[in-house]
Amino acid sequence: MKITNVRACQPIAANSPPDWRTSMGQILIAVDTDVGLTGYGVGGGGLAGVHVARTVLRDVLLDRDPEQIDALWRRMYDVTLPFGQKGLAIMAISGADLALWDLRGKAANLPVAALLGGQTGQPIPTYVTVWDDLDAAIEAGFTAFKLHVEHHAEGGVIENVCRAVATARRQIGPDCQLMIDAWMRWDVATTLAIAERVAPDRLEWIEEPLPADDAPGYERLTSQCRIPIAGGEHEFTFSGFRPLIDRRLHQTLQPDVCWCGGLSELIKIYHHAQQAGLRVCPHRGAEVWGLHAIAALDHQPLAESGRPWMTWILDQPQIDGGSVSLSHTPGFGIQIDENSLPTQ
Ligand SMILES: [Mg+2]
Repeated sequence: MKITNVRACQPIAANSPPDWRTSMGQILIAVDTDVGLTGYGVGGGGLAGVHVARTVLRDVLLDRDPEQIDALWRRMYDVTLPFGQKGLAIMAISGADLALWDLRGKAANLPVAALLGGQTGQPIPTYVTVWDDLDAAIEAGFTAFKLHVEHHAEGGVIENVCRAVATARRQIGPDCQLMIDAWMRWDVATTLAIAERVAPDRLEWIEEPLPADDAPGYERLTSQCRIPIAGGEHEFTFSGFRPLIDRRLHQTLQPDVCWCGGLSELIKIYHHAQQAGLRVCPHRGAEVWGLHAIAALDHQPLAESGRPWMTWILDQPQIDGGSVSLSHTPGFGIQIDENSLPTQ
């Protein structure tokens, strides 16, 4: 099998928010082959990511055997290294890597989860990420909830966040899981003060309280914070995650498979974290791209609800009553609305 074309675009769904951050700059990469199979993957980086895929990554992949995923990943990493290593180049590589895994599954007539030794069809528990409508999430049958609290940063942040957590705990009852996400808006003192105050409300984790590159701050939280710290959605590659794991800066790792380097890197992150006794809860894990790894590799699965904007992906697994399951269809088990892809 040989790669005959690499196509990339930034498809915009009808209900996609216009700004880069909220639409996450998602890009779609298609890898065509001489046997008529096409692999699809989603990466990031917006139009800059599309450019990297259409030029540098395309040059690496054309005429190569798509089964050589490790060698192709290494080559994509090496040629982007001067301007890559983290950020949008790795986000673009993530989409290409996922497309290669989709091809591998299609060529073997197996779901990606089965390639990794896992099963499809089993219900995987999920949690829902809530910005404002907790009632709707309760109504939908979820039993695990994460509140985005960074918008409480105006004014008395500690007071506001503690009130929001207490209110949510009352609403969801004593038995449901509750987490909060600060999206890198706090400092160490604020995080410690909030952790102290919300301890009676039993949080599973506080997510990204500090900027992603504040290793000394996370080091202090590791020894002083009474609530486990989660993070990693803004970290890249196994090399980036290894110090987070080895230094135990996060107790729950949250790689995003569409950003961190693709499934090839997510597998390594899973194995290293599990050897260290740490949990992995991939960012947006209930989206199809991360869900196969969760189904195959996770001993304590909890998949984060995805975002609703990839309407150009057909046959996506749907969360129902707080859980989600994968179909037995080969590859990632999805189809793409080809009208959303350019020919080149
Ligand atoms: Mg987050």
